[in-house]
Amino acid sequence: MSKGLQERGWNAFLDFAKKQCSKSEYNNWILPIQLEEENDSKIVVKAPNVFMQEYLLQNYKEELISFIPSTSKGEPAIEFIISEEKPQTVVETVDTAPQEEIIQSKVLLNPFYTFDNYIEGSSNQFIKSAVMGAAKRPGKTYNPIFIHGDVGLGKTHLLHAIGHDVLNIHKKTKIQCITTEGFINDIVDNLRNKSIAQMKRYYRSLDVLLIDDIQFLQNRKNFEEEFCATFESLMNQHKQIVITSDKPPSQLDLSQRLIARMEWGLVGHIGMPDLETRVAILQDKAERRGISLTNPVAFFIAERIFENVRQLEGAVNRLSAYSKLLGTEVTEDVVERCIGELFRYVPKKRVTVDLILKSVSSMFNVRVSDLKSTTRSKSIAFPRQVAMYLAKELIDESLVKLGESFGGKTHSTLLHSWNKIKKQISEDEHLKKQISMTQKNIDS
Ligand code: ADP
Ligand code: MG
Repeated sequence: MSKGLQERGWNAFLDFAKKQCSKSEYNNWILPIQLEEENDSKIVVKAPNVFMQEYLLQNYKEELISFIPSTSKGEPAIEFIISEEKPQTVVETVDTAPQEEIIQSKVLLNPFYTFDNYIEGSSNQFIKSAVMGAAKRPGKTYNPIFIHGDVGLGKTHLLHAIGHDVLNIHKKTKIQCITTEGFINDIVDNLRNKSIAQMKRYYRSLDVLLIDDIQFLQNRKNFEEEFCATFESLMNQHKQIVITSDKPPSQLDLSQRLIARMEWGLVGHIGMPDLETRVAILQDKAERRGISLTNPVAFFIAERIFENVRQLEGAVNRLSAYSKLLGTEVTEDVVERCIGELFRYVPKKRVTVDLILKSVSSMFNVRVSDLKSTTRSKSIAFPRQVAMYLAKELIDESLVKLGESFGGKTHSTLLHSWNKIKKQISEDEHLKKQISMTQKNIDS
């Protein structure tokens, strides 16, 4: 392999990227990334911080593959060296007076993750306004704030947005925004450097602590204790704490004490944005990428991508590259061709109550007519409740309408069944499997 081949590829990519985005975007996000090394199978680049790495992979993954080698998994074979040091901890010499606090941690906030760039909808409105309030008056509204939801729904985005707002409003605020892994690494580093006392003082002197992905504290007993102590110290001083997690506090494998503390303030959930919000997100992201999506096309995509917001972003990125390369408008046809494979989750068939009843009846070995009847015997009432649970989960209809399809049950009966089964599923693995198999039968 002649030396310089990958370099040519990288330069060609740079030329391509330059045409794709605005000048400032290019200068801020792409240009600082430098090629360091190359060989037959990969390139190594140096980036000033992790956000540039994230930006590049998030926005140009597909395109990179056309210019540089790819791995067997079809990912671009690119390795990053992050040149910026981690948030710095300056070690005190042993005999320095302890009151001279010289630990300085730099806050790393992703510049894209602001409230302005965060599209609001029913799934996130409440939590967004709660954290905006906390950013304005840290420690004075809800405290702590605990945000939970599935991956890719904007938890980290909101956390960083709080950081930006706090610093915009109160420049002098002592703030730290850190992942739980970062916090653990900080403890390890400081233990090694014998500077753990300063580290504790540093964290306990913060005005605002933003901590991401607390689920990584599970099964790390010693770190949990340190976190809990920091947490309590900050809470006692009425300092603001915001935590994100993939699960609500009660489902985390952490001490009862910490769980109770985390439930003290506001626990809020972020769900998948509804259809209209997904359309708004698509159109916003498309506009930033310089392509226009007509309403029908945006709806066409939003109806088919409903797992998480990151996928919506990925879809826009691909469409933007495709339409710019070929110089075409984004039509439904182009969408099918370009991102059709992202649509594999679309249910092929419309789920109806009859389909659910059929599937439940064969799984639990009861008759459909019994499920629709008013019989209260347990062997029938239970599968009936399962069917009601599935109906509420899988069918986009009002509870009143659904109740009618169950032989005239009221909406509160449906809701009661849904709640009951939902709770049981979380406690009973066997039932969970049964229900998931029933659902597979319905879908197939
Ligand atoms: P999480 O931390 O919940 O896994 P992230 O905060 O990393 O999710 O969000 C994933 C991506 O989706 C990010 O690029 C983020 O900017 C974007 N995103 C999520 N929710 C929204 C929203 N409501 N409006 C605009 N962008 C969003
Ligand atoms: Mg996150």
